[in-house]
Amino acid sequence: MSWDTTKRTKPCLCGKGKLVQETRMDDWNRIEENTPYFECEECRNKYNIESKFFNPKPAHEYTIYYAVDKVTGEKKQLDI
Ligand SMILES: [Zn+2]
Repeated sequence: MSWDTTKRTKPCLCGKGKLVQETRMDDWNRIEENTPYFECEECRNKYNIESKFFNPKPAHEYTIYYAVDKVTGEKKQLDI
């Protein structure tokens, strides 16, 4: 079995680095998403990343990721 790994990147929240998410796809086109992470020291120090799993019917299940400010607890939804 082989996995193809693709990396999706977006600008991070401060704009100096990147937000990266790795997605893996196997031979049967099943997709496995990893929790995104910041390639940015400033954002890594400032935010924790949280995920929330949704399974509404009849739509597909999906996961929403948030950056949570470590100081204020403010949540920002990550658009990735
Ligand atoms: Zn940043």
